[in-house]
Amino acid sequence: MRMSNMLVTTLREVPAEAELPSHKLMLRSGMMRKMASGIYNFMPLGLRSLKKIENVVREEMDRAGAQEFLASALIPSELWQESGRWDVFGPEMFRLNDRNERQFCLGPTHEEVFTDIARGVIKSYKQLPLNLYQIQTKYRDERRPRFGVMRSREFIMKDAYSFDKDYEGLDESYNKMYDAYTKIFARCGVECSAVEADSGAIGGTGSAEFMVKSEFGEDEVVFCDSCNYAANMEKAIAISEPSQKEELKDMEKTATPEVKTIEELIKFFNIGPNKFAKTLVYKADNKVVAVVVRGDREVNEVKVINAVGGAVEFEMADEKTVRKVTSAEIGFAGPIGIKADFVLVDNEVANMYNFIVGANDTGYHLVNVNYGRDFEGTVGDFRNVTSEDKCPKCGGKLTIARGIEVGHIFKLGTKYSESMGAVFSDEDGKVKPLIMGCYGIGVNRTMAAIIEQHHDEDGIVWPLSVAPYHVIVIPAVIKNEEQMKAAEELYNGLKDLGVEVVLDDRKERAGVKFKDADLMGIPIRVTVGKLISEGKVEFKLRSSEEVEEIDLSSVINKVKEQFEKEEIKL
Ligand code: ATP
Ligand code: MG
Repeated sequence: MRMSNMLVTTLREVPAEAELPSHKLMLRSGMMRKMASGIYNFMPLGLRSLKKIENVVREEMDRAGAQEFLASALIPSELWQESGRWDVFGPEMFRLNDRNERQFCLGPTHEEVFTDIARGVIKSYKQLPLNLYQIQTKYRDERRPRFGVMRSREFIMKDAYSFDKDYEGLDESYNKMYDAYTKIFARCGVECSAVEADSGAIGGTGSAEFMVKSEFGEDEVVFCDSCNYAANMEKAIAISEPSQKEELKDMEKTATPEVKTIEELIKFFNIGPNKFAKTLVYKADNKVVAVVVRGDREVNEVKVINAVGGAVEFEMADEKTVRKVTSAEIGFAGPIGIKADFVLVDNEVANMYNFIVGANDTGYHLVNVNYGRDFEGTVGDFRNVTSEDKCPKCGGKLTIARGIEVGHIFKLGTKYSESMGAVFSDEDGKVKPLIMGCYGIGVNRTMAAIIEQHHDEDGIVWPLSVAPYHVIVIPAVIKNEEQMKAAEELYNGLKDLGVEVVLDDRKERAGVKFKDADLMGIPIRVTVGKLISEGKVEFKLRSSEEVEEIDLSSVINKVKEQFEKEEIKL
């Protein structure tokens, strides 16, 4: 590509609303442009990288034995009604009517569609296992679109769905996807970890998220420093140590006027937060759930939702509800006598002695409370892990880091095949539901995650595998015939070899060209300048500061070497 013909849309200014390096750089380098909140148009340069990522995904999916397919983004509501998700999906789903008032949605995901396909075409165990995938546009009316294509309202997802005759088959299909994902992210140059993820209250039997470590990540991930344990915070198991044994003391009611928060209680009683148990009141659909955790802990809402058997809507209870179930003002809730449908008691609280709780009476707390003697409830793990906790697998030290979820693999089991009647006849002649798995990769989000890990203050530093172009040839002075001739020859020579190359033949100063090349992140830069009179050019990798003066004739070999080093086929 000749840059004089190219639509170059680089920006010198950092767009004000962009916070994330990848978001800023994708806009600044002209990869994409914003059209509306969470909606972006990909420009030619950005599209090249996006397509390369798609191709890496496609090649590895094909290699793993999956077959590409393409479903419509426009989905009739009936399919969602069959699975029961039309009413539970909520405002994230873009819904629309046709001219005859039939309801449709723009697919936020495609379990229903693929299950529908499967029930139409799979009849016998002989057709199994089957894995179908697509690379297709998804629509989600996200509550908070942000960070550019990291969380947008329209995005490209690779979604795959596996169908097996039994759970051993599902394990195999799942493991194949796990391996394929590992290869995909490695080929895209992103360092990521597969972490155990929550698989919800219903259906799932196993799930992993592929997480890229990043300070801007929206998820918290718990890693063990000693073993391979890694889990999403939603799922990470908190092991609660028994506290120092004490004689049980008599419970007393103490007046604590105006003392409501844990900080105020610590001051008032002059003891540590580990001597308090706080009671948080939630609403799970129309049920009231009281959760009791140690004063300094955070409730893990996903664990709570799972413990109550799932909930479509889950939120902190409003003031009115709290007043009703505690018969007190906010700030005095406690487990004794609370009128909740569920009382969930964190393991740690069940292990504590003589602690303080709200009295369900405005202005009072109860002192020397003990679980079992003074109140009961469902005991379990309902809190977030902290870095003081020990690894549930090996007892090692835990680290909590932020991560970006780029992919998700999930054992669905029969959740959709049962509700939608996707069955097959097995070898024994019996009709059984298909055992399913689903597997997603956010293609645009992966692109942003690559940039998060590969950039510097001057711009993007693309790995060769997903760079929009491999090489940029810059003649320093285009009016200089010798320079221009050598640059053209090099450009054509590289193109003939199958290298994707840009010739920056614009009437710009060399400095401007270098800036643009750095911003766009082209991995290899060859500058044809004054030294050409001695048959030499400058060779520079975007990822290194070093500028090498090499013979014009050896450029092609140097480029080939770089392809070999990064294990990219030419
Ligand atoms: P998140 O928790 O980030 O909202 P999710 O659990 O909703 O993700 P899935 O439904 O598992 O995501 O979708 C599969 C993949 O699609 C995710 O791993 C992610 O890479 C990508 N993805 C999901 N939502 C978005 C979005 N709004 N913008 C860009 N990519 C997305
Ligand atoms: Mg989401």
